[in-house]
Amino acid sequence: MKTALTISSKKAAKYIRSGGIVAFPTETVYGLGANIFNPHAIEKIFTAKKRPADNPLIAHVENLGQIELLATNICNSAEKLIKEFFPGPITLVLPKGEKIPAVATAGLDTIGVRMPRSDMAIEFLRECGMPLAAPSANLSGKPSPTTWQAVYEDMFGKIDCILQGKTTEIGIESTVVDCTDEIPLVLRSGAVTIEELR
Ligand code: AMP
Ligand code: MG
Repeated sequence: MKTALTISSKKAAKYIRSGGIVAFPTETVYGLGANIFNPHAIEKIFTAKKRPADNPLIAHVENLGQIELLATNICNSAEKLIKEFFPGPITLVLPKGEKIPAVATAGLDTIGVRMPRSDMAIEFLRECGMPLAAPSANLSGKPSPTTWQAVYEDMFGKIDCILQGKTTEIGIESTVVDCTDEIPLVLRSGAVTIEELR
């Protein structure tokens, strides 16, 4: 596969809209995105990363309204965390909406939702016009990439495009919080600390 390199969010988004997969910077690490509503595009992510099919992807949104396209029955504690921490380096696990293909969430009836805060991520998501399924843009088992050059090393020739942004601001993954019940549970520690969550 030919991999395009670009600094244009607009150009990168065209690959997403035609069913491709694109690496893009966020404030945590570089993500590898696909249209969350296109199961064929999502399968390409698993292939490119050699990611086990039982490892769910995180959905990325650029505005609060898009959360309703992904999740249902959002409880009060989840609402509170959204108000406090979105946009930012946190992923909330919520009950999954009907339109999300099973391949995106590894067959789970929940979905991880995050709103990145870096300008380039937001601009790119806006150009795409839909939420993206996006794990980190590394080969499975390798460290998460914080530069486009690190993405290039793992992914050149395997994905449609790399959006060349700056080195990521934070460099570690988002904190994952299960919000399917009123009492939130931290599933993966990350950029937002337990103290901040409390
Ligand atoms: P990555 O985007 O590569 O950092 O990986 C996403 C990680 O988020 C997964 O490996 C899980 O640990 C977590 N995750 C994503 N979706 C869910 C979900 N529905 N339920 C529980 N954990 C999730
Ligand atoms: Mg990862």
